[in-house]
Amino acid sequence: MSEPTPDGQTGGLVDGPRDPEHDPSAHYALERSDVEALAARQIATTGRTRLVVSPLGGQPLAHLPESSATDVTEAFRRARVAQKQWARTPLDTRSEALLRLHDLLLDHQAELIDLVVWESGKARKDAFLEVAHLAMTARYYARTAHQHLDTRRVPGLFPVLTRAEVNRVPKGVVGIISPWNYPLTLALCDGLPALLAGNAVVSKPDSQTTLTALMAARLLDQAGFPKDLWQVVVGPPAEVGGAVVAQADYVCFTGSTATGKLIAAQCAERLIGCSLELGGKNPMLVLHDANLDAAAEGAVRAVFSNAGQLCISVERLFVADQVYDRFVEQFVARTRAMTLGASQDWAVDMGSLVSQAQLDKVTSHVEDAVAKGARVLAGGKARPDLGPYVFEPTILEGVTASMDLFAAETFGPVVSVYRFHDEGEAVERANQGSYGLNASVWTRDGDRGRAVARSLVAGTVNVNEGYGAAFGSLAAPMGGMRESGLGRRQGAEGILRYTETQSVGTQRVLPIRPVLGMSEESYAKVMTTALRVLKKVGRA
Ligand code: NAD
Repeated sequence: MSEPTPDGQTGGLVDGPRDPEHDPSAHYALERSDVEALAARQIATTGRTRLVVSPLGGQPLAHLPESSATDVTEAFRRARVAQKQWARTPLDTRSEALLRLHDLLLDHQAELIDLVVWESGKARKDAFLEVAHLAMTARYYARTAHQHLDTRRVPGLFPVLTRAEVNRVPKGVVGIISPWNYPLTLALCDGLPALLAGNAVVSKPDSQTTLTALMAARLLDQAGFPKDLWQVVVGPPAEVGGAVVAQADYVCFTGSTATGKLIAAQCAERLIGCSLELGGKNPMLVLHDANLDAAAEGAVRAVFSNAGQLCISVERLFVADQVYDRFVEQFVARTRAMTLGASQDWAVDMGSLVSQAQLDKVTSHVEDAVAKGARVLAGGKARPDLGPYVFEPTILEGVTASMDLFAAETFGPVVSVYRFHDEGEAVERANQGSYGLNASVWTRDGDRGRAVARSLVAGTVNVNEGYGAAFGSLAAPMGGMRESGLGRRQGAEGILRYTETQSVGTQRVLPIRPVLGMSEESYAKVMTTALRVLKKVGRA
């Protein structure tokens, strides 16, 4: 694999697919030696392999090893040994490793982006955002480590007599199960605070995007994290993912609501905690005083980033009656002007879907809606001429509750546009359904936008932006209400979930009982007076 050049850039992981007929060593799109070096980082002793194919053009990428439940047990054994030592490593040393990772991510971005695009088919600009989000996560937690993790003094039972403090103790080994849609950032971003808090991690990425997760693990090694602290296992989801949940001290899951519910039930059986980052059917509201140019441009990014395979992307657009026609005209024009493609080219605005299964789901949602009377304002069909799983950015009007995509997550480049007459009614419609992940409000009046935000059922709300303002603010927690999840990533909650609180109380000078021959009755009177005084002086 190529080293960074003096200007900080790296060469790509590969040159691109070559013709095996003319080059016998070029059977796969990725260099075999590079793949083998990455795969060696995974614990996999079954001898089983699976073929991974790129969504870019259906090129075979590599045959990758599969882990088993036994391999997961070995991963936990190694992680537990490493974690004991790591928990004793000074916090500043752990933070320094995160800051080194920050630099490595930026230095190796070209190589990382190549691999993300090969495995997921996304546009290069979407892959870059993964690098940026991960670097920001590393920096945020490194710089706030003491704020979150230092032992904290709290008021004791009695002033002076009782000293009380709260420790943050690592949970142990955290299991992280992540999906394919943001394969770099979702493999690592939840793990970084876990490591900083003194835990080890067993990571189970999606089988489609294993190599990206393995390259991320390599960067952790290079940043100075002990190798056994971060284990990677990949294989049949129920077997390997199930074994992770069965042995972890805490589980962080990102994926579908259906799988999240299964994981939550398994965690409940073992009485361990979990955070669940799940699906959404996110609304965007364009109020009558919105800057329409900005809103139309923002809608394109909010709806079509990552070809809509983004948990916080917008799938429902509610537009005020007064500006509906003008907004829709601009939104449709911008959408039709997008450059589609399945390639490593920076010029691609929207890339491919990841798989045939994703293409089938998006196609069936659009076909069902159209068959039941929805009108297609832009897009509406697959583009096999551009790539096997490319689907056009699609805007639908006239969507009704009888259509599959009315309330169910499409997870593709499809949005339904609705007209509203009254803001209260718009909020009510936006709040319908079972999800509550992200929402977006567009208005020239920031205060009004933030007031509307408070009435929306969503874990994050963005004013005059689709998703980036809240998601990109690392100090702000991110996660879902209702069936969009449990717990939060980012901010204090994103790291404290990986710790147990331990309260230590130390009693000094006088015991908590009658002294000097005092009767229990007299002690109760003294205590009563003390309680009244404590209230009077304002003590909590
Ligand atoms: P998925 O639930 O099918 O898979 C997610 C991960 O879980 C994969 O690694 C998969 O192998 C694993 N898995 C599947 N079944 C399992 C089982 N029985 N036991 C243990 N692990 C199992 O989800 P997906 O379709 O791959 O991902 C898309 C979904 O993820 C969408 O619904 C999207 O909204 C959601 N998502 C949410 C967020 C968020 O932050 N809220 C982020 C990205 C994606």
